[in-house]
Amino acid sequence: MTVAVIGGGAAGFFAALSVKEHHPGASVVILEKSNEVLCKVKISGGGRCNVTNGERSVRELAKAYPRGGNSLKKAFGVFGTGDTVEWFTRRGVPLVVQADNCVFPVSQKSQSIIDCFLNQARACGIEVRRNRAVCALKNSGDVWTVQYAGDTEATDSFDRVIVATGGCPKLSGFDWLIRLGHSIENPVPSLFTFSIPDEGLRSLQGIVVEKVLGALVSTALQAEGTLLITHWGVSGPVVLRLSSYGARYLHDRGYDVRLRINWTGIRDNDVIAADLIDAAREHRGKLLAGYRPFQLSDRLWRYLIGKTGLSLTKKWGELGKKDIQKMASVLSNDEYPVDGKAAFKDEFVTCGGVSLKDINMTTMQSRVCPGLYFAGEVLDIDGITGGYNFQAAWTTGYVAGKLL
Ligand SMILES: Cc1cc2nc3c(=O)[nH]c(=O)nc-3n(C[C@H](O)[C@H](O)[C@H](O)COP(=O)(O)OP(=O)(O)OC[C@H]3O[C@@H](n4cnc5c(N)ncnc54)[C@H](O)[C@@H]3O)c2cc1C
Repeated sequence: MTVAVIGGGAAGFFAALSVKEHHPGASVVILEKSNEVLCKVKISGGGRCNVTNGERSVRELAKAYPRGGNSLKKAFGVFGTGDTVEWFTRRGVPLVVQADNCVFPVSQKSQSIIDCFLNQARACGIEVRRNRAVCALKNSGDVWTVQYAGDTEATDSFDRVIVATGGCPKLSGFDWLIRLGHSIENPVPSLFTFSIPDEGLRSLQGIVVEKVLGALVSTALQAEGTLLITHWGVSGPVVLRLSSYGARYLHDRGYDVRLRINWTGIRDNDVIAADLIDAAREHRGKLLAGYRPFQLSDRLWRYLIGKTGLSLTKKWGELGKKDIQKMASVLSNDEYPVDGKAAFKDEFVTCGGVSLKDINMTTMQSRVCPGLYFAGEVLDIDGITGGYNFQAAWTTGYVAGKLL
């Protein structure tokens, strides 16, 4: 059996290695359009590569994928996060689980992952051909013919093909797959930060709040996590999650939405009000400036008090019912206009890609073109931050390589 894997990224390498593991007699070639392979692995996780997540439950894992999670459940059963840890450990790359459940190489270097793939590929005879941009695929009988961009003469033929070309921000990048009959979910960005033109908020840049609740006003989209105030607006896991959950909605609205921040991290407004009443009782002699509830930083607390219209020199014991309500409202319903997205430097994925309706998710084989398989971000699958995107690449690559 001859197998072409198109794309020398995370999914492509994992798929190629899976083919050799399960079909040792197969001849496997990786066709990569640039002269470098595994570029995204190199820069991933700030150069450390967040390989996977510590979450082992398939049900919980699926929730981390705003698109594709449910469809991946079966494949996670074949190759899940625990299998990833074992796979790398067995091949000499021990991994470590951080407190936030993100999993990194013990070396803290993405190069360890790259070296592992290159060594494994060399050891099992996988050929890597660089500068081979595939622009068309043709099928006749059981044979797939690959055509290369810029070289209309050159073609190669294979028994099976795995497409692992990654995400593409433009629909036109999928033309060659559309010509084969696949439908494409429109690609739009996911995992970005929000630009907020509010000077007051921006003046708080550098402040990190451990646990806030973020929501997009007029939607059911909400997320929980750490928030970082930046010179352009807001960033941090809670914002990236919201951008991922709301990727399509935000795109359709031209990123012109309102963000609601609950600075307390507490969902129940009655609990927030009760906590404030307790604080007023316990710290009745202190000025508002002198006691900060919910462990808010001094700068943030002063800013929020400013928004309530209350004086920082007022005493907690002097607060009336209305004052407490005002405070609770600013703390839990603080709204800001978002006027655009800002690229997040550490992680960025495209949502959209080959529609999962066209894929048998048990085998990763195309329903439209038998003999053609898919793996990685080229599919309409994307996860929130935390190692989930690589896990999808490993899982789909493993399954495609095993079951072709
Ligand atoms: C800055 C950054 C940091 C990230 N950090 C993390 C992280 O820490 N953890 C995590 O889980 N995810 C992370 N991600 C997301 C993760 O990198 C991707 O989800 C993952 O790389 C997808 O793997 P892939 O193999 O499907 O696609 P890619 O890695 O994009 O690989 C696709 C390959 O196919 C090649 N190719 C494309 N078209 C063709 C063609 N026509 N012919 C031949 N070759 C072609 C490309 O050149 C590329 O080498 C990060 C992403 C970015 C951008």
